[in-house]
This record gives sequence, structure tokens and C-alpha cells, in this order.
Amino acid sequence: MTGPAPRTLLVANRGEIALRILRAARRLGLRTVCVHSVADADGPWLSMADRTICIGPAPARDSYLDIAAILRAALATGADLVHPGYGFLSESPAFAEALAEAGLTLVGPTAEVMRRMGDKVEAKRAMIEAGVPCVPGPDRPLSGDPVEAAEVAAETGYPVIVKAAGGGGGRGMRVVRRAEDLPEAVMLCRQEAERFFGNPAIYIEKFLEKPRHVEIQVMADGHGTALWLGARDCSLQRRHQKVIEESPAPGIAPQDIADLGTRCAQACRMLGYTGAGTFEFLYEDGGFYFIEMNTRIQVEHPVSEEVTGLDLVTMQISVALGDPLGITQEDVRFAGHAIECRITAEDAETLRPAPGRITALHLPGGPGVRVDSHLAPGYRIPASYDSLIAKLVTHGATRQEALDRMRAALDEYRIEGCGSTIPLLRRLVDDPAFAAGGVSIHHLDRLLAGEPTT
Ligand code: ADP
Repeated sequence: MTGPAPRTLLVANRGEIALRILRAARRLGLRTVCVHSVADADGPWLSMADRTICIGPAPARDSYLDIAAILRAALATGADLVHPGYGFLSESPAFAEALAEAGLTLVGPTAEVMRRMGDKVEAKRAMIEAGVPCVPGPDRPLSGDPVEAAEVAAETGYPVIVKAAGGGGGRGMRVVRRAEDLPEAVMLCRQEAERFFGNPAIYIEKFLEKPRHVEIQVMADGHGTALWLGARDCSLQRRHQKVIEESPAPGIAPQDIADLGTRCAQACRMLGYTGAGTFEFLYEDGGFYFIEMNTRIQVEHPVSEEVTGLDLVTMQISVALGDPLGITQEDVRFAGHAIECRITAEDAETLRPAPGRITALHLPGGPGVRVDSHLAPGYRIPASYDSLIAKLVTHGATRQEALDRMRAALDEYRIEGCGSTIPLLRRLVDDPAFAAGGVSIHHLDRLLAGEPTT
């Protein structure tokens, strides 16, 4: 049931995720509008939209982050649904509120839920209530009293990490190993929290030394159904940025994932959560520790799609249209193993941004190979945005088969005219520790720095 006239979905994003959303909207028979900046006027994904509308100059704050400009575009084009993708305004409660006030539907949860989960201390409290395991440490911000901070850190046990409640993007965090270093760390962290996130609240939790990053995908509708859709291991990160992701998480018992997933789904019901979401955990010595929730679709969603056979973007749009999910947890089946490599327009050696004009392009294919990419021959990659140019996803009956397909696909992939991290990714899938499965979040940074990785 999608109403009488065809509904119109506005895509408030760019690049590969704009293309992914446009594909899903087409499948659902929706009309589409895609906004773009001046720098993206020749974006190849725009040809997939029924209408396009320029909303401002290249800097994101004047276009993709400009709430008023996007609202004007939605009203001018008769859009009634807005998909924010990931990044940009996807986790902005102010955007969600502005859309609701204008009578538009966001593909995502309510502003209220977004605000609650966007505050890491609040989120932690909600998770403890729902029975989801968290990193040891109090579920309240520091009061500002240095004696209290010292007590909290001592109780938690060193090393600890001081974090901004409103933090994001890997900023606003400080690791403290000795009690004498705590006062300065608390002061600097509070200053950063205020400056970068406009929220001086900070908190302390246990610092885990060699965790893996394991996350649970969820999907919930407005009719009481909340599903967990398996786990992803995203431990291979460069400076907190995910590089390779996979599902399931190697070496973790399916029953442990099922128990954790059940609690995450329960948390969704408790929060009144709707749409796609991700609960992120650190995993160490057999324990899961919640760190944050992302209230949006994530870059790495395709690996979950490959193992479940579900179209997550179509599902989140259907939920926003008010439809029930129409499946239960028992209907969700996990098959095989999927791996995603993020290909960026960077020099594979120096890892510096290396955008350019695509002169030649050859995509890999065959069974179990998927490419999500907005590139086309002749396209000039603008320097103004994230350097992600393609996601290469392989699926196999086993992890070994998915890895073998990834090696062959990376060998076949040719992107000319810009830098690409394909040669680096090709080396990484051959790294013995990665190939064995279960590396920690520090593995890649150490590998790239030439340090010992064990
Ligand atoms: P952000 O919102 O900035 O991404 P997160 O809370 O998700 O912040 O943490 C980002 C990264 O910081 C994690 O993926 C992990 O690498 C590290 N980190 C955060 N909390 C801890 C902790 N308690 N122990 C060890 N590492 C942590």
C-alpha cells in the first residue's frame, strides 16, 4: 500500500549511495528527484533520476548540508519522501525535525530517537536498560569535579578512554594509561567536545587494547517488527576508517551473534526505532561491548544483503512508506560469506587523495561479484568530497571462496585516470593474518606503519 499517486523520493546525497538509492526507488516504482551541487552537475548517477536539481556550490555546507536548500528542492519538486543516505545530514535530528515540520517523510527514525542515540552516554544508558552489553564504565557524564573523575577512572581500571558524549568521526577521544595523566586529558577532551561538537559532556570508559569491530545490522518497521540481520566484522580500519568489511564475523559462534542480535532487536522495540540501523560493538576475549548506534544505512550494508538475500535499501524505503516488513526473524536465513573492499581515489602507496578524470574502466564480474560504483568513462571525480569511488563485494559459499573471488576481481578491475587503492587492497587480502580472519582494529595501521602486527 503506497498511496494513490506515485510517491516521489528525493535523494539528499551523491555518488555511489545516491545511485544505490535511485536503483531501490526505481524498483519500488517511485518517482525520483536527486539534488546535487555545482561540482556534481555531471555526476553519472544523476541520469538515473527522473529530475535533478542543483542546490548550491561545491562546499558541502552550502549544498548537501544545507537543510533549507534541500527543503526548498523537495517542495519545488513535489517530493514527499527524503532519503539522506549516509554521512551529510543522515544523522541530523535538526534535519529530521525540519522535514517533519514541512510534512515530508524521512527515510530513517524519528528526530527524537536520532537525538537520543546520537548522545553516546544516553545511548549507553538505553542499551544497558535493554540488556545490551556495554564497555565497562559509568553510564553518566563526568560532573566536572576532578576528584570524581579520578574515582571513576580508578573504579573503571586503567587504561581508560575519555570520550565526548556528542563525538563522532573518531574525534574527541583520549586514552589515559596513568592516573597522573587524567586531569589534563579530561580538560583537553572537554575543550575539544565543546569546540567540535558544541556539547561539553564527556565520559570515561575502559580502554580495550586489541578489540575487533563487530556490528549488528537491524531493520524495524512501524508495526512492531524488529529484525537483526547478522553481524559484520569491520576491524580492518585505517585511522578509524573502515577499509574491508565482511559478514559473518569470522570465528565467532553463530549462537553468540544470535544472542546479541536478539538483544539489539529488543532494544529497537524499546526505543521505538524504525528503519535501518547498526549497533556497533568492540569484541575482545569473547565479550561484546556496545560503543555506539548508527541511525542510518551504512557504507558496508551490501555484505549483509549478500548473505541474507535481502535488499536493505528497498526495505528501509518501504518502512518509511508505512508498510510492514512482512517477514519475521524466522524467515531470515544466512547463506555463505561476503566481503566488501572500499576502493578510494587515493594513491595506493602514499594514500594521498588522487582524483582525476576516468579514462578507462573495466569492471570485474561473474558469479558472486558485485560492484556498487558511480564511475563512468570520462567522469571527472571532484576533489571536494569523500574519496570513495567503488565498493567491490564478493560472495561465496565459504569465506575462502569469497576471498578467492575477491582476489580475482581485484586483479580484473581496471580504473584509469585517477589514483585507486586497488593495489593496496589486493595486498591486504593476501595478508596472512587477515586471510586467517579475526584481526584487531589496530592491525592495518600497524601493517602500514611497518610495525609488528601481533
Ligand atoms: P566515533 O563516533 O567517533 O566513530 P566510536 O565511539 O564509534 O566513535 O569509536 C571510534 C573508534 O575508537 C572505535 O572504532 C575504536 O577503534 C576506538 N574506541 C572507542 N572506544 C573505545 C574503547 N573503549 N576501547 C578501545 N577503543 C575504543
